[in-house]
Amino acid sequence: MDEAAVKEEHYASSTSENHKTTCWGCGLQLVLETYSPVFKCGWCGAITDQCKTLRKPDSVCFSWWRRVRDRLFVTILIFFMLFVISAGVWGVYPVVFAISKSFGIVHCLLTIFLSIITISTFCLASFSSAGAPANIPWGSYPVVGKDGLENYTFCVYCSKPKPPRAHHCRSCRMCVLDMDHHCPFIGNCVGSANHRYFITFLIAVVVGCTYVFLMTLYAGFHVWPPLQYGNLTLSGSSTASAISVLKEIVAAVASSALLLSARGLVLIYLAFASLSVEIGIAVLLWQQLYWIYEGNTYINQITSQNTPRREAGCHNLLRFFGCPHSIFRVFLGSGNSGKSQDRSSTKLL
Ligand SMILES: [Zn+2]
Ligand SMILES: [Zn+2]
Ligand SMILES: [Zn+2]
Repeated sequence: MDEAAVKEEHYASSTSENHKTTCWGCGLQLVLETYSPVFKCGWCGAITDQCKTLRKPDSVCFSWWRRVRDRLFVTILIFFMLFVISAGVWGVYPVVFAISKSFGIVHCLLTIFLSIITISTFCLASFSSAGAPANIPWGSYPVVGKDGLENYTFCVYCSKPKPPRAHHCRSCRMCVLDMDHHCPFIGNCVGSANHRYFITFLIAVVVGCTYVFLMTLYAGFHVWPPLQYGNLTLSGSSTASAISVLKEIVAAVASSALLLSARGLVLIYLAFASLSVEIGIAVLLWQQLYWIYEGNTYINQITSQNTPRREAGCHNLLRFFGCPHSIFRVFLGSGNSGKSQDRSSTKLL
């Protein structure tokens, strides 16, 4: 950032060997001592990156393919969630209600609660805006006041100012505040406005999958056909004897598995599917929570080495999960989301 600080104070200097250029933010003509593709306006604070103005808009095919891919993933995910819920009801309910009616009612209420939380947070993360920047005046002095566009850059795709810590998403075709990443599975960006829904959805999936796994194991144990042993003998203590006993047990389980009913097969599938989804989503959730704790986002982590970070700590997690009118938000003066905009940050310099 030292180099950036040197670069930025070139506004209206009066050297003979100068390079004239115009600030995109306030329209003032700037005079740079030396040519620099990236510079910051001393009046409005906007950052100009002349390399980025050369970028071309995305082709129609590119945008079309990303839209189709996102909608396909969202549809598959909705059907998968509905399948798990209905298969779970069909596979587990008869077993649980046969054991105890009150146990069945508790299980019924829990599945309704988990299903509603999972599907509603998925829909909120998927179909709500990820956090579009507010429209602010730009392009002419004195409409843009002193420091009016501090650390703003210009988005060549949207043709309007891009706030610090915002990124342009080529799939959503818009700039997103505090963008974390574009998630094809929700068909939307994860940004300041829906990040909390996304995290709640991940938590709901992990809790829901754990419950499905445990209940399918429990029901599977009850519907599993009784094991038929051949000549199982537990006499002797040698390794060979232990191996033969193990073989006998495996053979008994395999032969009884052949007698499994359709309900038993569905329960086994659900147990494996829920366990794999749970492990995958738990890793993603842990990674997300770690970045929130660090005061960073995934996209900042991979695209910008010099972006100033918030101080890492539990206060980041508290602020992220705080209610909209909590004391935290009042003191931190955050915007319309779970995370605040850091106006002192600059992505390009
Ligand atoms: Zn300017
Ligand atoms: Zn944009
Ligand atoms: Zn996006």
